[in-house]
Amino acid sequence: MLADRTTLTQFLIEERRRHPEASGDLNALVVDVALACKAIAKAVAHGELSGVLGNAASVNVQGEAQKKLDIAANEIFLRTTEWGGVLAGMVSEELERPYAIPSRYPRGKYLLAFDPLDGSSNIDVNVAVGSIFSILRAPTPGVDAAVSDFLQPGVQQVCAGYAIYGPSTMLVMTVGTGVHAFTLEPQLGEFILTHPNVTIAPATSEFAINASNHRFWEPAVRRYVDECLAGRTGPRGRDFNMRWIASLVAEAHRILMRGGVFMYPRDSKDPAKPGRLRLLYEANPIAFIVEQAGGAASTGRERILDVAPTDVHQRIPLVFGSREEVARVEQYHRDHNERPYDAPLFGERGLFRAPA
Ligand code: MN
Ligand code: MN
Repeated sequence: MLADRTTLTQFLIEERRRHPEASGDLNALVVDVALACKAIAKAVAHGELSGVLGNAASVNVQGEAQKKLDIAANEIFLRTTEWGGVLAGMVSEELERPYAIPSRYPRGKYLLAFDPLDGSSNIDVNVAVGSIFSILRAPTPGVDAAVSDFLQPGVQQVCAGYAIYGPSTMLVMTVGTGVHAFTLEPQLGEFILTHPNVTIAPATSEFAINASNHRFWEPAVRRYVDECLAGRTGPRGRDFNMRWIASLVAEAHRILMRGGVFMYPRDSKDPAKPGRLRLLYEANPIAFIVEQAGGAASTGRERILDVAPTDVHQRIPLVFGSREEVARVEQYHRDHNERPYDAPLFGERGLFRAPA
């Protein structure tokens, strides 16, 4: 089974050989993160048998009800990565403030931001969930990171990845040399490279959006989705499929495997939340991976990776996937900056009404 196969460890060592100046700390950190993902995969796979399903009696910093598995996955990430001497601090979705490395361990030169369990509302119904991570350089290596140290634009990431706990467990990551996907061999406990150099086709006929928010969308998004729904008889001239899993990792993975475009755009549902997804440990790592696969990731108005963060838990609108569709969504945002979208598009006054 291992003939002609590359393990994650071998992949990391071969990558490092191309950078003789590298200390190996990044490799050590990725191996520790991979261990966290294997441990979480095991807990997820045992489901109700391990007693980790259901709600905990707490809410997180975002005001969301925490699942028991959110808390367990967070603890796993902290324990597997805090000891190695390669981190100066961590940010987790489940912790209000950055996590200080315990005093008994040395401080290192990297920062880790993570969503320990993404899509956790899916866990009780046995639908795929995941973990997401982003690695940055610590501006001041060797000392405890300050909150401001984490506020780097995504373009500064040195590594990003996610694990998806689906029918099989996979680890998908980039260190800036393309996107590579590994499948967990559960008996060996090894991630094996199964999908080298993953790419996203530039065009697609599949989109993903939570359509129940339609009435809160901005004109650009309403126009884009209306045109997809109009299919062959509309301005796009072809039929579209729609998918919605409500788990960012699962949506991103589908798009990496077969293309598509995902939108959680800015909407007017809650003025305090100009987007749903979190910049540091959701949008940035997914954007890095998507760009490395040849796709694009945007707020609708600007490239995700260029956004200067202002808060470790800030939310942001996120549109990513096949780059032609992302470019179209951005164009519609520019078109409708001032000019309102004249809905219904295909009604009596429809812009695209076929001439009689
Ligand atoms: Mn999440
Ligand atoms: Mn989460």
